[in-house]
Amino acid sequence: MSISMDDLELSCWECEGKGVIEQQGKQQTECPKCEGKGTVLTAQGQTLLHFIKKHL
Ligand SMILES: [Zn+2]
Repeated sequence: MSISMDDLELSCWECEGKGVIEQQGKQQTECPKCEGKGTVLTAQGQTLLHFIKKHL
C-alpha cells in the first residue's frame, strides 16, 4: 500500500493554503481552520497521526 501526501493533507480551502485570512481593510489573521499551517489533515492523515503518537 502506498500513501501519497494528498491522501494525508489537503491545502486549506478556508485560506487557500496561505495560513492567514485576508480581510479587506483589516489586519491579516491566522486561519482558524488550519491554525496557520495552510493545510488540513484528511481523515486518513488524522488516523496516521494518532498511530504515530501512540507509538512514540
Ligand atoms: Zn487555513
